[in-house]
Amino acid sequence: MIKLEHVNKTFGDHQALIDINTEFKEQQTTVIVGPSGSGKSTLLRSLNLLERPESGRYTFNDQLIDFTKPLSSKDILTLRRKTGMVFQGYNLFPHLTVVKNVMEGPVQVLKQTPAVAKKTALELLTKVGLADKAEAYPSQLSGGQQQRVAIARSLAMNPEYILLDEPTSALDPELEAGVLRVLLELAQEKDSMIIVTHNLEFARSVADKILFVEAGKILFDGTPAEFFKQPTQRIADFLAAMT
Ligand code: ADP
Ligand code: MG
Repeated sequence: MIKLEHVNKTFGDHQALIDINTEFKEQQTTVIVGPSGSGKSTLLRSLNLLERPESGRYTFNDQLIDFTKPLSSKDILTLRRKTGMVFQGYNLFPHLTVVKNVMEGPVQVLKQTPAVAKKTALELLTKVGLADKAEAYPSQLSGGQQQRVAIARSLAMNPEYILLDEPTSALDPELEAGVLRVLLELAQEKDSMIIVTHNLEFARSVADKILFVEAGKILFDGTPAEFFKQPTQRIADFLAAMT
């Protein structure tokens, strides 16, 4: 459903993505791993057009983007609707209750009525285990709870693909577990997701596909079984350094 062909992205004289070719299928969870500074965020942000590669092709179902050509604002808007991004910091609106945070996008952008948006928001909060926090404010929640609200908020926009950039890296281990549990459930429900994470245990349990990125290149693109059981020397070194 998503296809990247020969995608390149340069910052100044640094090439952050080098000839990226891969596919992300519907109802699959891909985990992107790799050392710091390898281009994982740039890859994810390119899918949401927060970064603009200078060459290559990006296909999302029937929408084709040629990065060598100027992007129309319609292209950008259509694509942003299809991809829900969850960041490391949760960026919740501090002055809105949890349920209002989740309703905001559907009401403002999708033009849902507040009643419809609220019903969906409460369902999603139940799903992420926070039904009892609907009327609380973000500052009254732990970091892990805030991140789960951010996930619910992203789901409320009903994206075709959910993109998560190190969703638990700002969290203490005991708060991380709750967020990972929610993501595992979403994966089991066949939501389509791409997750950047350093948590290899989690990667192994959640991923249908693993991408290993280093110095802007995809060095591995395959199943977790292959990744963990028959790693190349470079990946074996990476795995050893991570544990
Ligand atoms: P990762 O997420 O794997 O840690 P990034 O995608 O954030 O890596 O960064 C890849 C490379 O591109 C790094 O060398 C980083 O310094 C550089 N980079 C990322 N964003 C920018 C930017 N906005 N301006 C300049 N360099 C950037
Ligand atoms: Mg990053």
